[in-house]
Amino acid sequence: MKERLLTGDRVTGKLHLGHYIGSLKNRVTLQDQYDSFVFLADIQALTTHFEQPDLIRSHAHEIMLDYLAAGINPEHTTLYIQSMIPEIAELTILFSMFVTVNSLRHNPTVKAESKSGSLDEMYYGFLGYPVSQAADITICKATLIPVGEDQLPHLELTRRIVRRFNELYRPIFTEPQALLGESPRLIGTDGEAKMSKSLGNAIHLDSSTEEIRQRIKRAKTDPARIHAHDPGHPDICPIYSYHLAFASVAAAAEIREGCQNGTMGCVACKGQITNVLEQLISPMREQRALYAAKPKLIHDILMSGTERVRGIAQETMKEVRDAMSLNYF
Ligand code: ATP
Ligand code: MG
Repeated sequence: MKERLLTGDRVTGKLHLGHYIGSLKNRVTLQDQYDSFVFLADIQALTTHFEQPDLIRSHAHEIMLDYLAAGINPEHTTLYIQSMIPEIAELTILFSMFVTVNSLRHNPTVKAESKSGSLDEMYYGFLGYPVSQAADITICKATLIPVGEDQLPHLELTRRIVRRFNELYRPIFTEPQALLGESPRLIGTDGEAKMSKSLGNAIHLDSSTEEIRQRIKRAKTDPARIHAHDPGHPDICPIYSYHLAFASVAAAAEIREGCQNGTMGCVACKGQITNVLEQLISPMREQRALYAAKPKLIHDILMSGTERVRGIAQETMKEVRDAMSLNYF
């Protein structure tokens, strides 16, 4: 039997280059070697967007198009909706019995994502979302999790939960491993934060040629470089990090040298990365248009994927209930 690969995306907006290079590309590459699962994390989206459930609903279709356009093949990858698997919520509650508040409040990603960082201001569901991620993973008994760097503390918690469950009750779970993408933390076009759906600093996978051009044109570059012929500092330039992530090794090395010796100006450098991104995104645009014309197909893919995972989740919960002596009738 193939091992299981699993990951999801919060349904808070369209996917971007950070998702692609941090996780999506690995999901596509590995989908025929693993029994692969990819889900729409709509419950996790509620942890920050509980006042806008309609917005979450409207993004689900967009993200499905992003997946299919980027090469996720429903023949190899089971696609499903988190909220349609109630067993995940059940397992979350059971895990939460032996996870301390302290281990959650010191999670660096939770701290960075919460507005104030203060526990008093935090919602219970938000503080606990890494526990629900542990349930997302273990309900399918997945062992390989392709993610960006921000997810490593969550994966570590999942591993701890698995060890604790196995020693407390019965060894039914395996510790999953994280698989980082080629650029585990792609910077946003603002040059400040990680490229993110919620920060307005993203280049989306459905961008038009003009949108790519404009986003790159306005993106921050090396702040220390004033004139085109000044020697630049590629290591602190967001545009150079895009070359590293998306251009060939040889092309990125050429950019680096030209930037450092002042022969490659920022306008020319931006022109080159615009072309590289256009080559990456234009085939996605074509695939996207094909799937966008088939809403019934997308509905059916999600329905059958969700049905499959429901069956798996019920089997896992039977084992969990047996292990925890919750099997009354
Ligand atoms: P939000 O702002 O709503 O949290 P997000 O852009 O952070 O959105 P998520 O749905 O939280 O996206 O993340 C989905 C997956 O994509 C995770 O594995 C995450 O690590 C990865 N990822 C997201 N942004 C980046 C990035 N800039 N670089 C690398 N990986 C990323
Ligand atoms: Mg996020």
